[in-house]
Amino acid sequence: MQEKGNISIHTENIFPIIKKFLYSDHEIFLRELVSNAVDATQKIKRLSALGEYTEELGDLMVEVSVDKEAKTITVSDSGIGMTADEIKKFINQIAFSGASEFVEKFKDAADAKEIIGKFGLGFYSAFMVSDKVEINTRSYQKDAKAAHWQCDGNTEFEIAPSERDLRGTDVILHINEDSQEFLDEARIQGILDKYAKFLPVTVKFGQKDQSVEDGKDQDGKDKYKTVKVDNIINNTAPIWTKNPSELKDEDYLKFYQELYPFSDEPQFWIHLNVDYPFNLTGVLYFPRLKKDFEVPKNKIQLYSRQVFITDEVKDIVPEFLMLLHGVIDSPDIPLNVSRSFLQSDSNVKKINAYITKKVADKLGELFKKDREAYQEKWGNIGLFVKYGMLSEEKFHEKAKDFCLLKNTEGQYFTLNEYEEKVKVNQKDKDDKNVFLYTTDAAKQDNFIQSANRRGYDVLDMHEIIDNHWINHLEQKLENTQLKRVDADTIDKLIDTGDNQESVLSDEDKTILQEIYTKAIENTALKVEVASLAPDEMPVTITMPEFMRRMKDMAATGGGMPFMGNMPESFNVSINANHPMSAKILKAKREDTRVKFAKQAYDLALLSQNMLEGASLTKFIQRSVELASK
Ligand code: ADP
Repeated sequence: MQEKGNISIHTENIFPIIKKFLYSDHEIFLRELVSNAVDATQKIKRLSALGEYTEELGDLMVEVSVDKEAKTITVSDSGIGMTADEIKKFINQIAFSGASEFVEKFKDAADAKEIIGKFGLGFYSAFMVSDKVEINTRSYQKDAKAAHWQCDGNTEFEIAPSERDLRGTDVILHINEDSQEFLDEARIQGILDKYAKFLPVTVKFGQKDQSVEDGKDQDGKDKYKTVKVDNIINNTAPIWTKNPSELKDEDYLKFYQELYPFSDEPQFWIHLNVDYPFNLTGVLYFPRLKKDFEVPKNKIQLYSRQVFITDEVKDIVPEFLMLLHGVIDSPDIPLNVSRSFLQSDSNVKKINAYITKKVADKLGELFKKDREAYQEKWGNIGLFVKYGMLSEEKFHEKAKDFCLLKNTEGQYFTLNEYEEKVKVNQKDKDDKNVFLYTTDAAKQDNFIQSANRRGYDVLDMHEIIDNHWINHLEQKLENTQLKRVDADTIDKLIDTGDNQESVLSDEDKTILQEIYTKAIENTALKVEVASLAPDEMPVTITMPEFMRRMKDMAATGGGMPFMGNMPESFNVSINANHPMSAKILKAKREDTRVKFAKQAYDLALLSQNMLEGASLTKFIQRSVELASK
């Protein structure tokens, strides 16, 4: 007997509303229907395991198929099925939680997922793409009668007995005019690959029209025949659902390829596994980073009980770990609420903190277990660690013990070790530790050698992030200052208070200063005569640390936009104690003096790669002339 009735909601216009609001996300109808089929399958498994269902379980699979001619998509399962009464209860009464609440709420809903999840509208998302939906189902219950339900997109439905004799459910969608794209098999395959890849029940996509080779025809050409090809979509037991003790490195690497085919091998990974106070499993991989700091396109994927939800994991994963890859699965993340709610959700906050802690623990463990190997990876993980320390206080606290500094000789130190190393030789007159660093060892070689001659150590800080990292270290380390090797002449770089005696009289110094001012021809530069060791360069060009940091910050967009086109502000220091200074003063003719001074100044420019164009040509001509005298 056929029965007619009304879907129980207060408004007549629910379908147009669903269609309108869900517009941007049409493809998720398939996720919803396949998830329902998977749930129904797992329920029958559970009943069987509990002994409440004693018949054969059979081949438990979910099958999706497309019939282009009939313009239908069918999702079939052999799960628990439904009786006619259950259909009425579960399907007809949209939003168990209250249709009036739904109607009240949908007005403000920001996006589709919000409505769908909150009001159990999963099944109804089918109407986003269908003119008519049929359910043909038979419950697992003994003597249950099969039922057939159909509804063509308004609030009226029909329900009637069905001939079906197998346990389970077919949901048949008659695809509407606007949604014909979903009859394309490649499109369906794509959607299934995205959402169903790791569902816990085998999902099969039956494709009817694939041609395969069938020998040769009379003319020797390839002959094809059309067969039905079943494509298994998913890996039902992805590694994050397993116990880490059962897994080998190969398993993690293989899974990585499954997630991101053709990617470079990751460096290492962290298996996440908590069940209290929230539920979360997953595997996070540390990728190998490319030199140019590109944003990796493999994103962390978020699942809820193995159903793919999104790869927008902002707020759930700490920002500094967004460069990681992998999977997080948690039924406790409220997936169907708006972003602003997510930010204030206490579970999300806890998850975020947990991930931070796990990553810190893992890095600490790697460091302790095999320092050598850890150091080898530092070039890559250093970025995460520094970024993490910069952005999260809690992470800084943990990471300060395994964060490394590397010097120009390629040796690595923890922060404590480095303080120990330099505290004797690199203290200034105020008892402050001075850490020296270079941002470009090749360009600043002259200064590095000068520093090394004094027994100073120089840190290698050439990464983009080091700019911020240096400021951070200064804030965090007690009584410590960081200076780039070319920030000052060597005696002032670490100002110990004891000055080198000058071999020149004050009068000679004044004359020397005048000669150089004339030779340099640039009134913007600060020229001064200093007493340096005789084996230092006759002229040294430096930029004060403070100035340079302001410029660097402006360049990387760190506030102070007016600093961007600030004139270069270099200091030129003349070494009074260098033999060249005596030679200049000894020369009789004014133009010879200026020529020597120019030569010394150009050498200083040259040593820092700052000499070019006409100035470089002049320097070469002058050098040739002086050499041939
Ligand atoms: P939700 O899955 O969020 O509960 P749905 O609208 O998707 O909401 O489904 C409503 C109910 O209909 C489900 O809870 C389930 O009881 C029943 N149902 C849907 N699809 C199936 C299916 N393939 N087999 C058995 N029952 C189903």
